Amino acid sequence: MNRREFFAALAILPLTGKAMKLNDLNTLTADWKGEARMPVLFLGHGSPMNAIEENAFVQGFRKTAQQLPKPRAIVCVSAHWETRGTKVTAMEQPRTIHDFGGFPQALFDVQYPAPGSPALAKETAALAKSTHIEMDEQWGLDHGAWSVIKHLFPAADVPVIQLSLDRNLSPAAHYRLASELAALRERGVLVVGSGNMVHNLRMVAWDKLQVPGYGYDWAIEANESMKKHLRSGNHQALIDFNKQGQAWNLAIPTPEHYLPLLYTLGMANSKEPLHLFNDETLGGSLSMTSVMVG
Ligand code: ZN
Repeated sequence: MNRREFFAALAILPLTGKAMKLNDLNTLTADWKGEARMPVLFLGHGSPMNAIEENAFVQGFRKTAQQLPKPRAIVCVSAHWETRGTKVTAMEQPRTIHDFGGFPQALFDVQYPAPGSPALAKETAALAKSTHIEMDEQWGLDHGAWSVIKHLFPAADVPVIQLSLDRNLSPAAHYRLASELAALRERGVLVVGSGNMVHNLRMVAWDKLQVPGYGYDWAIEANESMKKHLRSGNHQALIDFNKQGQAWNLAIPTPEHYLPLLYTLGMANSKEPLHLFNDETLGGSLSMTSVMVG
């Protein structure tokens, strides 16, 4: 099968996915072996309004997308899907979930109609060794996924599945699970972690949100320290985020917006090239800092 035939075969995958066995799928994806590994991303998603606003952050997302080969599909780990046990969305057509309140109607009107990929959901689950991944038919795409992916692929023509965050896993266990799924990168799959490294909503300076780069001292300290460990490939320090002192404790009062970063890192080799972008604190207690590895 040459590359063109392969893409043609992929185009019919969503229709035939149910009938396919994993072996068939592995045969299909085998053509990706030997190709360049897909990069892996962590995107600081910030306010849901980034979905419909024009600003430097969404320009950063677009610019990043231009540097990527077009993926076969996307696996997104969003801060906004926490579950008991790990789940993966397995429906043909995920709904667009508007999981927020108090925003303008224009934001509730956004639809991101990317197809799902039941075949990729099964393939992802089959790669996991340390935990069982359950097929999910209820979720869809939450705003952690669609508010950023729509800037990467506005045509919604790349299938997207979401992988949930199991509340019961330790940070090290999240990282380990990610490392087990790293083979997806060899198979044309773009992995997108979506959260915010510094994310303390209780302490947001709402009156300073429009001040570019406004960050409390502890937020800047935590952001700088995280970037230092990212650049030096010190994944262990980033896994041990709750042992890094007061600035980090304030930056990560709850882990859900930080943990997607551990999925991004778990899929990467600490020696791969790493590029930081949208590196800015915001509203005092948030950072938009985003990462591309590979
Ligand atoms: Zn969020």
